[in-house]
Amino acid sequence: MPANKKLLILPGDGIGPEVMRQVRRVVDWMDRRRHVSFDVAEGLVGGCAIDQHGVPVSDETMADAMAVDAVLLGAVGGPKWDGVPFDRRPEAGLLRLRKELGLFANLRPAIVFDALVDASTLKAEVVRGLDIMIVRELTGGVYFGEPRGITDLPNGERRGVNTQVYTTSEIHRVARVAFDLARKRNKKVHSVEKANVMESGLLWRQEVTKLHAAEFADVELQHMYADNCAMQLLKNPSQFDVIVTDNLFGDMLSDEAAMITGSLGMLPSASLGAEEGGRRRALYEPVHGSAPDIAGRDVANPIATLLSFAMMLRYSFDMDEDAKLIEGAIEKVLKGGMRTADIMAPGMARCSTTVMGESIVRELDKLAA
Ligand code: NAD
Repeated sequence: MPANKKLLILPGDGIGPEVMRQVRRVVDWMDRRRHVSFDVAEGLVGGCAIDQHGVPVSDETMADAMAVDAVLLGAVGGPKWDGVPFDRRPEAGLLRLRKELGLFANLRPAIVFDALVDASTLKAEVVRGLDIMIVRELTGGVYFGEPRGITDLPNGERRGVNTQVYTTSEIHRVARVAFDLARKRNKKVHSVEKANVMESGLLWRQEVTKLHAAEFADVELQHMYADNCAMQLLKNPSQFDVIVTDNLFGDMLSDEAAMITGSLGMLPSASLGAEEGGRRRALYEPVHGSAPDIAGRDVANPIATLLSFAMMLRYSFDMDEDAKLIEGAIEKVLKGGMRTADIMAPGMARCSTTVMGESIVRELDKLAA
């Protein structure tokens, strides 16, 4: 018998616990119907951890996160903790997790479900069937580069500095993730930078080209300037399969691509670290926050978190078939007209978080029958 898959669930604050309850429903279903058992531990992160332990993530929870195969996080934050000092804010818990797990590659799929094709602000014919994966470098670049800071100048002015910096190994490891993903998809990578005006961009282009020639010649590689990529995403998004880019451009382009698909409640993400001993550290989470405006009302959309769980099955546990089952069940429920408030449309049936979760499990039952 292979060892059980070890999973740490951190529901967090606001709607986090509500949407995570629907994941537990699917985990139970898998246990019953697919004979896949997870060793599931739960922990606190964010505001709830501050309330309980005085810190946004405790050393014990960090140790648990380091010991498991994958971490699934809900969301952190809320107005209750707005006055807390910066380094103890709920978000600091998330940053500590990302940093100590060494998560350098952020994966943000932008997928348009057929049933939600009209939720996009773009024309249906432009977005139908869209399936893009954006790989954003997460631990380097201008958000972390030194020198940085604000200084007072002798002439009375002030000067703000941030530094965009990348090394070959930082570029190679994130590009490798993108090429590996492309191999399992449509074998096309767009590498995005501003090589025309930035030395760090030129290095990025040169190093991605080298890596491609040495290890991934079977994958199609195209280079694109970040400003053009922003335009192309709106003009003709289906030309893209995998996009790999730096931290700053990735921050913007992944939000842009995500919004093409409609609602925040539908967007999953994965953050991956280095592979060691056949295991890659990984954290999965919905893109949305804790949504304090709707928390506790059983109206939040659990699909982003369920899709994050499906990503976990695919990327941490190599369980593509089960990931597809969950995605298929979600598609079926949406096709059937069931909608949480955020994706509600005329003629559809509005449902609660709980009913959405239950309906997805019912579809899973049918699909697996
Ligand atoms: P948010 O994503 O929480 O909410 C933005 C809007 O989208 C709200 O109107 C909300 O009701 C709606 N929304 C979000 N997720 C939804 C879902 N699953 N179903 C239905 N509607 C949904 O962003 P915000 O309001 O800017 O931030 C709220 C709190 O969350 C803040 O404390 C912020 O710091 C935190 N935050 C945390 C994360 C994270 O944990 N990764 C990310 C972003 C924001």
